[in-house]
Amino acid sequence: MSANTARVHKATPEEASSLVVEDITRAASRLAGFDGHEKVLLGRDDRRGLTAIIAIHDTTLGPALGGTRIWMHDGFDAAVTDALRLSRGMTLKAAIAGLPLGGGKAVIRADAKHDKTPELFDAYAEMLAQVHDSYITAEDVGMTLADADYLRARTPNVAGTTIGGSGNPSAFTAEGVFLGIRAALKHKTGSDALAGRSVAIQGLGAVGRALADRLAGAGARLIVADIDRQRTADAATGLGAAVAAPDEILTAAVDVLAPCALGGVINQRNIGLLKAGIVAGSSNNQLLHHDDAIALKERGILYAPDYVINAGGLVNVAAEVDADGYDKAKVEARIAEIPATLSTIFAEAERSGKATNQVAFEMAEARIAAGRR
Ligand code: NAD
Repeated sequence: MSANTARVHKATPEEASSLVVEDITRAASRLAGFDGHEKVLLGRDDRRGLTAIIAIHDTTLGPALGGTRIWMHDGFDAAVTDALRLSRGMTLKAAIAGLPLGGGKAVIRADAKHDKTPELFDAYAEMLAQVHDSYITAEDVGMTLADADYLRARTPNVAGTTIGGSGNPSAFTAEGVFLGIRAALKHKTGSDALAGRSVAIQGLGAVGRALADRLAGAGARLIVADIDRQRTADAATGLGAAVAAPDEILTAAVDVLAPCALGGVINQRNIGLLKAGIVAGSSNNQLLHHDDAIALKERGILYAPDYVINAGGLVNVAAEVDADGYDKAKVEARIAEIPATLSTIFAEAERSGKATNQVAFEMAEARIAAGRR
């Protein structure tokens, strides 16, 4: 792993002594619906203010890669559940993107605005170092590039950093989503041209804004929403986008709905109200429930499974730990495969009558099973 070349800060014995890492795999497996994780670790350091969960879901295809989310979940079980759910998603995302990686994710139960301290990160770096051969972390909600750099100076298993890394992956995610939207249009209408097509984007953050730029450049008409009014104002001025209220964007009358803000936004309450013919965006866990994809299919709405279309960022981060070193051209070539993967999924869903996310799940599982053999 090329990441091993980083200079590693050695913790003092006093620092190391206050971290306690406990294997909670068996206890975690009793949480509803989660019984397949290889290892779940709880790290506690009361002196340095750390409560962290590292969930390693599956390492059949390679070391588990997935970011660290810093979030004050509503209770400890909610934090563990989030780590378990997200790590399982990373296994599928890596497998379907054809990466030699497994799935993992970590949660630090803390308020990212107030609780992040060097001491907390020192303790977390020690915990990461204990799983350096099976888990590689990166940014997620609450964890910045600077935080990742700080950890990387202390333990090698951190990607998405500026230290020998490639920095923020959002532009790569946006590129994959852009190509995925074109593949969905092609499947649905026979043409992948964006000129004259309308796209509603929920969330103009790092991915949503980069996606908006790409779509506008290709001639699409945009309707955008964000709770940050400055972001919608900038898109209106810079891209000629129409602005919708955050609670109206999901039901906009458009060709494509691109959720790029939150998870769980497509659900039984609103599927009947959607007017878009395609749902294709960057958000993780866009569907509140797996079966919501069946309801979308019944309404004739084509759903691009989130972990397939939003894999560009992971592809980029994964390239940092490639044995041959980071190669941008290789990253772009792999992201260019996302539309072909989606087209295969769309065609198979049509042939089999299954929902697109079920087809994607089976494809990912088949790759993992082949790896196991
Ligand atoms: P971000 O935090 O930069 O942007 C999110 C945007 O959504 C912000 O502008 C925020 O104000 C807005 N928002 C929040 N609540 C909203 C609401 N109710 N209505 C409208 N807008 C709202 O995040 P990001 O990095 O752009 O990621 C966007 C989504 O894509 C997330 O779900 C993330 O998990 C997912 N994702 C991101 C990447 C990546 O490379 N950054 C990779 C894979 C998946």
